[in-house]
Amino acid sequence: MPREKHLKSITIPVSTYEHAMKQFDQAASRLHVDKGLLEFIKHPRRSTIVKLPVQMDDGTWQMFTGFRVQHSNVRGPAKGGIRYHPNVSLDEVQALAAWMTWKCAVVNIPFGGGKGGVICDPSKMSEGELERLTRRYTASFFDVFGPESDIPAPDVNTNEKTMAWIMDTYSMNARHTVTSVVTGKPIVLGGSRGRREATGRGVVITVREAMKHMNIDPTQATAAVQGFGNVGSVSAQLLHKLGVKITHVCDVFGAIYNPRGIDIDELIKFVAQTKKVIGFPGAKPFDSKKILFADVDILIPAALENQIDGKNAAKVKARILAEGANGPVTPEADPILAKNEVFVIPDIICNAGGVTVSYFEWVQDRMGYFWTEDEVNARLERIMTEAFWDVLKVALENKVHLRLAAFMVAIQRVVEVVQLRGIYA
Ligand code: GLU
Repeated sequence: MPREKHLKSITIPVSTYEHAMKQFDQAASRLHVDKGLLEFIKHPRRSTIVKLPVQMDDGTWQMFTGFRVQHSNVRGPAKGGIRYHPNVSLDEVQALAAWMTWKCAVVNIPFGGGKGGVICDPSKMSEGELERLTRRYTASFFDVFGPESDIPAPDVNTNEKTMAWIMDTYSMNARHTVTSVVTGKPIVLGGSRGRREATGRGVVITVREAMKHMNIDPTQATAAVQGFGNVGSVSAQLLHKLGVKITHVCDVFGAIYNPRGIDIDELIKFVAQTKKVIGFPGAKPFDSKKILFADVDILIPAALENQIDGKNAAKVKARILAEGANGPVTPEADPILAKNEVFVIPDIICNAGGVTVSYFEWVQDRMGYFWTEDEVNARLERIMTEAFWDVLKVALENKVHLRLAAFMVAIQRVVEVVQLRGIYA
């Protein structure tokens, strides 16, 4: 068989880590920084793989694979969520950990970046199985986690309950209660008011500022939201409150559409019962493969990575693309979207509201003094708005798109700290 033909038949898996590194290189090449120093801050400090034996409800033992990556601890402890998903891989966790470093730097909170994950399908596991998996995972990383070293949080398919198990397992091993070892906990266990909504709230703050910049009247705008988990549902709800008509919503099971706008509060109630958006009486079914190309003003991908790539980017019709998910747009798609004047609000700013309120939670836990929801939201509002306009200013001054500008700001902040601390040798 001719070589080219043979090659064509091979599907090369997408490396999300390569995407993250490409984004870094593009921004780094515009900064006047020593190449060796850039190499030092670019790659993860430590990546650990663990095998996790878990007894299933039927008495059998199953082995799971878990990861924790500490990308950076230059600006503070590694910080980032834990993901439970069948497609989790070291490549993905390393990319997500790197994005956490740049995310924390761009909103200027004193954390580095980390991420964790376990290869599993939580929809097929009982609560008891998930609890045993979470406790074994936490115990495996007892020497890695800590309020001063590495602080986990929720991510895809993990939630407050998961964080409570992590807090308890860590505390039992430490022989005293350590609330600040994990964020995104239930409020009664030292969680922060407003944390659950924080990522979606942050997404909507950045969209609102982008609309101001582009002179778009929210009450005349329409939006499509891909994903109806914590990020997608809260983003849709708060955007709807701003007066934006949410015409398209999808989740893993399917999509719905209503040209007059979907009543998001009613949809949230419906999904709480049925676990799916399809079948919602206030909307018609829609082809979920087409949601990213819907004829709307605002598109919010709030699901997984690599949704918009070099092959489909030209089909995006939205004027604002707000990255609620981490890494939904590949580096090949960025120039196409820029050429078509799609205003992309990159993940590292757009969804930074979650880790920002995680920072507030860590601060409150360490003080043992808790803020009202209004205080939390006011502080979040200030940080997100400032980060948005700081990055936009750099983008306009350097005539680059927002992702490049956000990476430039973030890398510069990490470099500055490395230069001041020096490298211990
Ligand atoms: N998993 C979220 C993210 O990707 C939140 C991380 C955190 O709060 O530490 O930003």
